[in-house]
Amino acid sequence: MFETLSDRLSTVFTSLRGKGRLSQSDIDATAREIRVSLLEADVALPVVKAFVGAVKERASAVEVSQALNPAQQIIKIVNEELVKILGGETRRLVFAKNPPTVIMLAGLQGAGKTTLAGKLARWLREQGHTPLLVACDLQRPNAVTQLQVVGEQAGVSVFAPEPGNGVGDPVGVARAGIAEARGKHFDIVIVDTAGRLGVDTEMMAQAAAIRDATSPDEVLFVLDAMVGQDAVTTAEAFRDGVGFTGVVLTKLDGDARGGAALSVRHVTGAPIMFASTGEKLNEFDIFHPDRMASRILGMGDMMTLIEQAEQVFEADQAEAMAGKMAGGDFTLEDFLDQMLSIRKMGPIAGILGMLPGAGQMKEQLANVDDRDIDRTAAIIRSMTPQERHDPKIINASRRQRIAKGSGSTVAQVNALVDRFFEARKMMAAMAGKFGLGALARGKS
Ligand code: GDP
Repeated sequence: MFETLSDRLSTVFTSLRGKGRLSQSDIDATAREIRVSLLEADVALPVVKAFVGAVKERASAVEVSQALNPAQQIIKIVNEELVKILGGETRRLVFAKNPPTVIMLAGLQGAGKTTLAGKLARWLREQGHTPLLVACDLQRPNAVTQLQVVGEQAGVSVFAPEPGNGVGDPVGVARAGIAEARGKHFDIVIVDTAGRLGVDTEMMAQAAAIRDATSPDEVLFVLDAMVGQDAVTTAEAFRDGVGFTGVVLTKLDGDARGGAALSVRHVTGAPIMFASTGEKLNEFDIFHPDRMASRILGMGDMMTLIEQAEQVFEADQAEAMAGKMAGGDFTLEDFLDQMLSIRKMGPIAGILGMLPGAGQMKEQLANVDDRDIDRTAAIIRSMTPQERHDPKIINASRRQRIAKGSGSTVAQVNALVDRFFEARKMMAAMAGKFGLGALARGKS
């Protein structure tokens, strides 16, 4: 996502490097290049115009900071304008004073509504809420079953019409779903609605009728980020036909150019609230305009990375691990634990992609294979506890047994053991360099 745009913008910034001062013609040329970059990324024309206009104006005005060189100043301005175009502040869900809070999902068929219903429900449940999913997509064959499946994966209840009963009456189902939530004290209702392949008046009328029957606290317009320029037209049609309080961008993991993400806020005035980045239920997060802007500019998204890591690693666990690393008594068992924790954070390439400078290591990232990690884990699992604890005892015959047990070759086992000893040496050396000796002695 956003790769083309990131690449192009980084070329623009590179060409400014080494300049002592920006002349008006430098600024004009830069603005032109930014304009082309945005258009190539499928950003809608009115948005491009507004964006480039603002950058140009600010760059020409006396926003001269002594601390920054011209290239840095332009990056700073572009970053701030990107944050602005993406919505500025992070917008969070608004909950009703009197539960249940009703969240209605609307969007074209295939946009990812049903998947999102599951993601949102799981996310809310993890925060202590008790969501109820209501199946009002009675148009698409299997939509109800699909919602029941994601509901089960998310560990939440699903309200659906009885087979043969209520079919064709999504408004009735929506009403009954809300009554069910009230009666059984669910505090949030997520209403999944029907979509069509294209916008049509009947679908809009149905969505509007569900909206009127349920008085939702939030209407989320679900938008497939891969659809390119059409995104804007679809968003406008939904804004006029149903109205929405927020946007959810899905399929941000695709190789799309990202124009939808950059256009939809400006065009509709509604904030982007969530981002979906895969088919799995945990591939979903709050949308933070500032973090997304940093990512586009190749400045990395350290905040998201840190938060994901925090979810996986307990603070004292991390500290204990650091102590072991510093003291050189890090074992293969610890190594396995760490690898499994990192795997929980998601695909490795995705994690590394959030680091600053990731844009420049695209080729290496493409070669990162989660299977390598899984293979390494399998090799360690084939070792006895004693071997994991004291890898020095792993002699030739043990290596053969381990290779056999894990379905790998002796060469792969050798490589792992060698790498482990190397890493352990390096950790201890680094700990010494950074004065982490106290950690090792358990006196942090
Ligand atoms: P609906 O018709 O709007 O309910 O759309 P679905 O929820 O059925 O999603 C349509 C397809 O897109 C399904 O195959 C989903 O697995 C897939 N999908 C949904 N969200 C994402 C996402 O963020 N990334 C990717 N890669 N696929 C997604």
